[in-house]
Amino acid sequence: MTISKSQYMRGLQCHKSLWLHKNKSALKDKYDNTSMVLYDAGINLGQLAQSLFPDGTEVQYDATNLKKMLSTTQDLIKNGTKVIYEATFSENGVLVMVDILVKNGDTWDMYEVKGTTNVKTKQGRTKAKYLYDVAIQWYTLSKILKLNKAYLVYLDKKYTRNGALEVEKLFVKKDISIEVIEEQVHINDKLTSMENMLTAKDMPKIDIGRHCSSPYRCDFHKYCWQDIPEDSIFKIAYAKKAHWSLYEKGIISMRDVPDNFPLEKRAKKQLKSYKANETHIDKPKIQSFIEKINYPINFLDFETFQSPIPRFDGQKPYIHIPFQYSLHILHEDGRLEHKEFLANEHNDPRGELAKDMLKNITEKGSIVAYKDTFEKSQIKNLALFLPDIKNNLLALNKRFIDLAEPFSKRYYYHPKFHGRHSIKVVLPTLFPEDSKLNYKNLGSIQNGLDAMNTFEKLHRLQDKSKREIIRQDLLIYCHLDTLAMVKILEKLNELVYE
Ligand code: SF4
Repeated sequence: MTISKSQYMRGLQCHKSLWLHKNKSALKDKYDNTSMVLYDAGINLGQLAQSLFPDGTEVQYDATNLKKMLSTTQDLIKNGTKVIYEATFSENGVLVMVDILVKNGDTWDMYEVKGTTNVKTKQGRTKAKYLYDVAIQWYTLSKILKLNKAYLVYLDKKYTRNGALEVEKLFVKKDISIEVIEEQVHINDKLTSMENMLTAKDMPKIDIGRHCSSPYRCDFHKYCWQDIPEDSIFKIAYAKKAHWSLYEKGIISMRDVPDNFPLEKRAKKQLKSYKANETHIDKPKIQSFIEKINYPINFLDFETFQSPIPRFDGQKPYIHIPFQYSLHILHEDGRLEHKEFLANEHNDPRGELAKDMLKNITEKGSIVAYKDTFEKSQIKNLALFLPDIKNNLLALNKRFIDLAEPFSKRYYYHPKFHGRHSIKVVLPTLFPEDSKLNYKNLGSIQNGLDAMNTFEKLHRLQDKSKREIIRQDLLIYCHLDTLAMVKILEKLNELVYE
């Protein structure tokens, strides 16, 4: 029986997950990847990292012919190739592909590329998910080659692009050989227990637990969690630690949580409201919240994208770049205006967006956002990037009001919120019948993640008409985000004053 590196990593997380993967893979959760399929010509981070070690030879991936990948690797080694990408080895039933293998005298260095900016734990050790990944490769290769060092190659979060991309500065190479060698003594036992489990044929009896989402969300979640009821304790917000201690006591439904169980105040309100099936409304608190808001009210929402590889000057890996905003302005006389901006996907959007926003936001009055810390942090970043208009931008941040506050602080709590307070939960609960306020009725963009992922890749989509359709979907989506805020505030007003 052969175990690949990814299967080994799966088995480390949960034996049952490995068993299901090998025997019942059809039970995996289904994901809708349609928007991703549109773009296949992206810059590959692994390929970019290869340019750190130029003139190498790549072993072409062929899932139907692994034998060929193995023999090509051996041929390259025999022929004196100094740099091999995706070198493939199989030994003692373990199959691994090494991102970059580099000859160093009569030994070899191996490099594993990760699209992250952080590989360390708080204690300064290499995160287990990265360490074990490299350790199993070392375990396999060390039986075939003389190894020198093992490195993680990852993104430097401090790198700021300025002109041409400097690949040497973008990536960090971290020598983790000592930890990798220390881990070797444990690998035989880990592999043996996986092999024994797989040859026993029966699915291992493993209950759900913290391991279902750590280090990765398991893709058999739906299958294993099928008996967990809709009103489960896992829906109690602000109570992460309590979830598993309740579960271990056999308490699964919110209904069964004892009233004296130690929970945060907000979690207790949620439980009380759920058990009584009652909406909790604290009118005086909602009223004081509303009284903080001044006309004209600017309802503002940004959409941002993140790229591992900076495209523009002044951009760092994974920094949020705002590319779109929607702005509804409610005047005291009831007039509602709408302004919007959506950047050209080929250009750095920051300067144009900031100037357009400053032009459209009214000079006076409140700026209302939902979970405003995000909008304020984007404005702060824009101010750092655009020193000429820094003061004007930072002045906006003093005018923000967070519309999520009445919901996060439970001045208004509906049992259907299930402990959450995002706009995607609050809006349909307050307006269940209004199809115009339903995100599910939108086009290809139905949430912030859709917007983020789609715009990041939009410049690579060749088909102009498809790009136009997506741009329209983005505009419609962001428009709804600010219209939703107008409606939510209207509803809060009704609750207090009518
Ligand atoms: S959902 Fe949890 S218990 Fe089920 S296979 Fe995955 S990790 Fe294991």
